[in-house]
Amino acid sequence: MSEHIPFHVPSLDEIDVSGVLEVLRSGWITSGPRCRSFEAAFADHLAGLPSGGAGSRSGQLHCVAVNSCTSALHLGLDAVGVRAGDLIVTTPLTFAATAEVIRYFGADPLFVDVDATTGNLTPEAVRYVLETLPEGRRERVRAIVPVHFAGNPCASDEFERLAEAYRLKIVEDAAHALPAARQGSRIGTFGDVTSFSFYATKTLCTGEGGMAVTSDEALAHRMRTMRLHGIDRDAFDRYRKGGSWRYEVVEPGFKYNMPDLMAALGLSQLARVDQFRERRSEIAEHYLTELTDVGEIELPRRAAYGDQHSWHLFTMRVDAHLRDAFIEAMAEEGVGTSVHFIPLHRQPYYRNRYGLKPQDFPVASSWGEREVSLPIFPSMTDAQVERVVSAVPKALVAAGKAVR
Ligand SMILES: *Cc1c(COP(=O)(O)O)cnc(C)c1O
Repeated sequence: MSEHIPFHVPSLDEIDVSGVLEVLRSGWITSGPRCRSFEAAFADHLAGLPSGGAGSRSGQLHCVAVNSCTSALHLGLDAVGVRAGDLIVTTPLTFAATAEVIRYFGADPLFVDVDATTGNLTPEAVRYVLETLPEGRRERVRAIVPVHFAGNPCASDEFERLAEAYRLKIVEDAAHALPAARQGSRIGTFGDVTSFSFYATKTLCTGEGGMAVTSDEALAHRMRTMRLHGIDRDAFDRYRKGGSWRYEVVEPGFKYNMPDLMAALGLSQLARVDQFRERRSEIAEHYLTELTDVGEIELPRRAAYGDQHSWHLFTMRVDAHLRDAFIEAMAEEGVGTSVHFIPLHRQPYYRNRYGLKPQDFPVASSWGEREVSLPIFPSMTDAQVERVVSAVPKALVAAGKAVR
């Protein structure tokens, strides 16, 4: 059998390596100058035009580098004022991080089922849930946390209008959405705060890392303070020449800062992040074309007209009774796959705490039973892409035999 194709390989090269070595040799490895440069470069990236974009949203962006997207979500919810007892609207079709940060506050997730074609929350579904909430619960809703599932952007502009009408805050989980765009503006420029992930498998990787983005100066200040122990400025300021040894703890904050070692990777990766997306988009188009005639599968949607998909994931669906056998058969064919996601309402913690049933969120349940993600990473060769294409129908036949 030919060589195994992993589900994901990070795109790291010698430029990334030398950037990290430079930091190691500089004598300053934790948060400092690299971190600031990365934040500035990230803001420039988000303010820039996506390819084919019609126009960008104005206003200065503040980027707060942290050690994970989970931290960024936590800081975002804190900054917009989430408190114990609040209800936070979100999707069940997501990773654990999205909802656990809501629980950090003693607030509760209010899951809303996703759209069957994209796996995203829609403003219509959220509006319906808000309108039909019993008296006493509606007043508790404070924020919406949309996830750009697989990198296909949500209707962020419509969510903004909805949030305005209902006086809610928006903290976007954009762990999959770098780079992605909604109607010509990059994801990261919508809502109150946007959280990005630089985890090892994400579209920009620093190993572990994240970014909280906002155009609101006050929110940025709060997040900067809370990311480092609730201290009014970070270590770089304190120890640099002419700086003061004096500092003030204004809140019991967190230890969420991003080290310069990681920020160096962020800088070198960011320079290629659009190029990475172009290659993933090419692979996705190839899959969409070549797999279109394969029966028994559903392929992912392209982004809506005027939007840009990051193609972080290529999420196809098979019949529920075939799914597990299909994954095994793909492995037999030498192709690594993954599942996004086992929905949160079917995880023991949320299921038990909130008494949730699979049929409460039928679309998310169905995705959770049928979804399989194919490899889609920039360094995939054309030959590897071809092998995945030919493995899919073979694995479907093998899976059919296995479950009979
Ligand atoms: C990966 C992921 C996260 C968490 O990112 P970390 O940087 O690992 O904290 C959050 N939400 C979604 C949807 C993710 O896929």
